[in-house]
Amino acid sequence: MQTDELAERICKGERRALARAITLVESGRADHREQAQALLDRLTRAPGQALRIGLSGTPGVGKSTFIESFGMMLTGQGHKVAVLAVDPSSARSGGSILGDKTRMEHLSRDPNAFIRPSPSQSALGGVARRTREAVALCEAAGFDIVLIETVGVGQSETMVAEMTDLFILLMAPAGGDELQGVKRGIMEMADLILVNKADGDLKPAAERTRADYAGALRLLRRRPQDPEDFPKAICVSAVARSGLDQAWQEMQTLADWRRDHSHFDRRRAEQARYWFGEEVRRGLLARLEEDAEARARMATLGEQVAKGDLTVARATAQMLATLGVHR
Ligand code: GDP
Repeated sequence: MQTDELAERICKGERRALARAITLVESGRADHREQAQALLDRLTRAPGQALRIGLSGTPGVGKSTFIESFGMMLTGQGHKVAVLAVDPSSARSGGSILGDKTRMEHLSRDPNAFIRPSPSQSALGGVARRTREAVALCEAAGFDIVLIETVGVGQSETMVAEMTDLFILLMAPAGGDELQGVKRGIMEMADLILVNKADGDLKPAAERTRADYAGALRLLRRRPQDPEDFPKAICVSAVARSGLDQAWQEMQTLADWRRDHSHFDRRRAEQARYWFGEEVRRGLLARLEEDAEARARMATLGEQVAKGDLTVARATAQMLATLGVHR
């Protein structure tokens, strides 16, 4: 299919065309890359802009159950919801545990939803680019809410937070009164903490956990771009489907507030700048790794450094000069 036709079909909201386009952006082949770029050039001029929501949580906290319930609620309200996944384990194993359609049985059959598993790719950096491009494609296809799911391991969370408007942390009720070893950095990224499984016997524990997180969040410095009571922690149950409407309301309140105070567009602009920098760095590293001559030079200089024939500083300067960087 020609790029023009593919673009046209995406803009009409044809899910098969969207799936095909995402396959194209995920491909590593040079000719596919070129086609993907042409497609994105055309589509980024299309108006659609979605609310991009990042959702993170360790395996077992109920991410897929939550997305299924939350997604169904949103499509029930007339929204079009796309779900993308960033799974760092798939980068290593080549297999994806996230975004698997069978995990979201009803949502995957909903005509107003689109679910895409994590691309299996050798490096997280590559996954980042593909995911960002997939977001743009989903927006062009008329999805007004894009959920990006990831598991709770540092690097992938930062990446997802850098490509979303809101970042949500899904947690499970803790047994004791201690917080579940959540890294401070991740807490700092969260706009909203949802303590899931607040149902049945787990309800009291969920409420205690929520209070603990609310306390911890209060200790963090309030971000100047947010209303006073954010970030907050609330209880939800993906299974009992309770608290989901409140969660959605909180997300909208925060997004509206940021829009009204022009933080929304500023954040997107900063994100674009961030990814530009990342891509340039990545490109430079790729050149270092792919260029056989550069690799050989690197090995030779490394040998000299190891023997003590060259200082690290001198060897670095020589290596950089080989790459055309003079300092
Ligand atoms: P994920 O690994 O984060 O995607 O978690 P899953 O959605 O697969 O859920 C892990 C387990 O937690 C499953 O057995 C779910 O049935 C259960 N679970 C998910 N949400 C809830 C909830 O709201 N309440 C209860 N009680 N269990 C839940």
